[in-house]
Amino acid sequence: MNGIGGGLDGIFEIEGANAVFVAPPQVLSKSYLHYSVDASLYYARSVLLDAVASTQAPSKEAEDDERKRKRKRKNKKRVYELNEKEALAELRHQEARSCILNAHEAFRLSSRLLEFRRNCKNKTKIILSCEECHLTTISQDRDIELDFVKLAGVWQAPLYKLTLPSKVEENVVHDLDAEVGEEMQNYSLFNMWIENKRSEEVIGKVTGFNFLLPKKCRFFISDIAQIRRLIPDSSSNGYNLLVIDPPWENKSVSRRALYPTLPNKQLLRIPLKSLVHLDGALVALWLTNRQKLHQFVEQELFPTWGVKLITTWYWLKLTTEGELISSLDLTHHKPYECLLIGYALQKLPEETFAMREDGLKPFIRNVPAGLVALSVPGDHSRKPPLGLLLSQCAPHGSRSVSCLELFARELHPGWDSWGNEPLYFQNMKFFRKE
Ligand code: SAM
Repeated sequence: MNGIGGGLDGIFEIEGANAVFVAPPQVLSKSYLHYSVDASLYYARSVLLDAVASTQAPSKEAEDDERKRKRKRKNKKRVYELNEKEALAELRHQEARSCILNAHEAFRLSSRLLEFRRNCKNKTKIILSCEECHLTTISQDRDIELDFVKLAGVWQAPLYKLTLPSKVEENVVHDLDAEVGEEMQNYSLFNMWIENKRSEEVIGKVTGFNFLLPKKCRFFISDIAQIRRLIPDSSSNGYNLLVIDPPWENKSVSRRALYPTLPNKQLLRIPLKSLVHLDGALVALWLTNRQKLHQFVEQELFPTWGVKLITTWYWLKLTTEGELISSLDLTHHKPYECLLIGYALQKLPEETFAMREDGLKPFIRNVPAGLVALSVPGDHSRKPPLGLLLSQCAPHGSRSVSCLELFARELHPGWDSWGNEPLYFQNMKFFRKE
């Protein structure tokens, strides 16, 4: 497995499997000197509630319902034949299934992770013991969150500013709690690159809300209509790693009003080839399990972007007890999501790409095939932080890897992040002072 994940804080290799266990708050906290990510606000409410439910006996009605559902499924199975799309989805699932079962079994047997799991369980108990107040805090916080998408839509949007300490020299340590004085500078919030050049985190303010910006990060808040503004002035300034988590149209996201979604044809307009570095780039695309989406990506999106699919990684979602969040074989609700990993070359026609495929072989070997990343899911459909793992696989010659996240909701040191709300998880309420 190429030793992937070895030596990265919060990412643990699982012996005997092509898999890693990820502890997101631990990984993310490494980006800050004076703050850490508050684990009790990181994890998904549903996971915490399930953990409560698992400590209570199921009600009689719930048991009856489950019995009825099982009977119905059994009867349906006898007469049901898969159509072509379902058969392809099943084939894909079977491929994922073996990687996942192997990874989960190795995770359960891993003695190294046993202590960590015990720790995680204890922490959950603490969260659950004050669970009522915890959940109330979350729902109250939601009401007072800054809604960047709404803010960008009002006529005053060009007037909104992010305020940062000014006259900041690189490598100079500043007092993060310093009072706001004349040493503050305003930056237009939307449609501009904003950068923290310092070697430590800094607090920025927008209309009374505080946001923590990790060291050496850059971000650009805009609608996709402005995406061409991300194209670097020179091709040698392009990116070696692009992580993309599009707002796929999805009933569950719309119902929960999590964020606005985008039709597939809008994604075809992302000028991916123009974002790629001269040496090429690793492209990692998050995808749900809908077969229609997989077909769209393989047949339209990747060919348009000039991306060659290398392999698929899987994110396996665990409960705080280390079990799968749902049965592996449910038709419409799988406990895993896919991360398609591809390789893109800059502005090259397809034929040249094919000709150079041989030259890609050493690069492709660098990317573990079918890797499974296991983690307890974060709230608000948050993806686990796999950026460091991915950057180990990106091409970069003797330079450091240049990374861009598209549709980002958080920032990372050294990365560029774009989306209509890349400051979302940088809200100070998600952090604790060390
Ligand atoms: N990877 C993120 C995480 O783990 O938290 C989740 C990204 S979420 C699937 C998609 C993001 O795209 C949301 O923040 C959403 O607001 C944003 N988005 C939706 N429509 C957009 C648009 N027209 N332009 C820019 N961003 C958009």
